[in-house]
Amino acid sequence: MNVFETLESEVRSYSRGWPVVFDRASGSWLYSEDGRGYLDFFAGAGALNYGHNNPVLKQALIDYMQRDGVTHGLDMNTVAKRDFLESVQEILLKPRGYDYKLMLPGPGGVNTVEAALKLARKVTGRESIINFTNAFHGMTLGALSVTGNSMKRGGAGIPLVHATPMPYDNYFEGQTPDFLFFERLLEDSGSGLNEPAAVIVETVQGEGGINAARVEWLQGLAELCKQHDMLLIVDDVQMGCGRTGPFFSFELAGLQPDIVCLSKSIGGYGLPLAVTLFKPELDVWEPGEHNGTFRGINPAFVAATEALRAYWTDDKLEKGTLAKGEQIARVLGELVEEFPEASLVAKGRGLARGLEFQSGELAGKVASAAFERGLLMETSGPDSEVVKMMPPLTITDDEVEQGLGIIAESVRTVLR
Ligand SMILES: *Cc1c(COP(=O)(O)O)cnc(C)c1O
Repeated sequence: MNVFETLESEVRSYSRGWPVVFDRASGSWLYSEDGRGYLDFFAGAGALNYGHNNPVLKQALIDYMQRDGVTHGLDMNTVAKRDFLESVQEILLKPRGYDYKLMLPGPGGVNTVEAALKLARKVTGRESIINFTNAFHGMTLGALSVTGNSMKRGGAGIPLVHATPMPYDNYFEGQTPDFLFFERLLEDSGSGLNEPAAVIVETVQGEGGINAARVEWLQGLAELCKQHDMLLIVDDVQMGCGRTGPFFSFELAGLQPDIVCLSKSIGGYGLPLAVTLFKPELDVWEPGEHNGTFRGINPAFVAATEALRAYWTDDKLEKGTLAKGEQIARVLGELVEEFPEASLVAKGRGLARGLEFQSGELAGKVASAAFERGLLMETSGPDSEVVKMMPPLTITDDEVEQGLGIIAESVRTVLR
């Protein structure tokens, strides 16, 4: 027995699939304490888009700490926060023609989701939120109420209310027109559906099994929101910050959501930071009406600013992400063809990729086989039936090839 088993709660999860003790990390690699390298196709579930201990961000952090820059600042004005706000304005919003106010809701993804839900309800005076099948929005009560997975919902211990699930894109495998059911319920005064305050959606469902909504579906959803006066919340916590190519995952569909949730990689270095963006007319908060002790972790602002300056002032990272995504998609396509009887499905967009198996057991075996060969990837989907590939966006072509070699070998070992 070790202290992880004797002291740490049974709630721990990733450590079970990867039963080693990690110590160092650099770029696309994690190293266990005995020195073995693991190629990281997990990237902190999307919190490490710029890799582990990225040297550019690290130097900015070292310099900031060395000069005794403020570390903890609640929401006090600081130089680090000003630099961050200015770089969001100049690098992210202005060039895209977006007009948003920025709120710091607390350090994690759930904090931005909870803030978005609260704000949508406050602005509209309505209680109901529409969410989608297989959505994941986090583990606090409000976020769980709009999350699909029954095991995670079960952890709440109280009724999860004021949210209504609708079918996500392709839920009926193309057999029904988009939004048939949703639209009918909205228009029928006898449907029993309360007028929704907002719709919350992921453009690609990461935890839900790497389900990428089609551009037409996303545009149709935005149109439906407009027609029925519902706010559109895009939860870009996992798919934002370049995961699918462009900084915001919804740029591809030309959307301008009313509210945008960011976290995971916005802090750049794997540091906790979350941001809620919303249209200026929605800024109806009273001072302090939403609050939190950790809304100003200034080193996270420093790393976030550095990441925006280093990676988002040109389109190199975006192009690289799309090219590497295609590199992965090609190999997944080949595996699908190699094993027709296994009915594999290749899924995803940009550097969020998945390979769906017929069962969670098979996907789990493939992930374990990959771990034995020195590669980290997790499974997702309602039955954990999708092997999920999300390397850092800064991964090299050679590392992608190396990882794909391990994945192909693992699939062959399990399926043969
Ligand atoms: C991870 C995630 C969250 C929750 O973020 P936490 O930091 O874990 O609270 C919310 N939404 C999406 C889409 C996520 O991937």
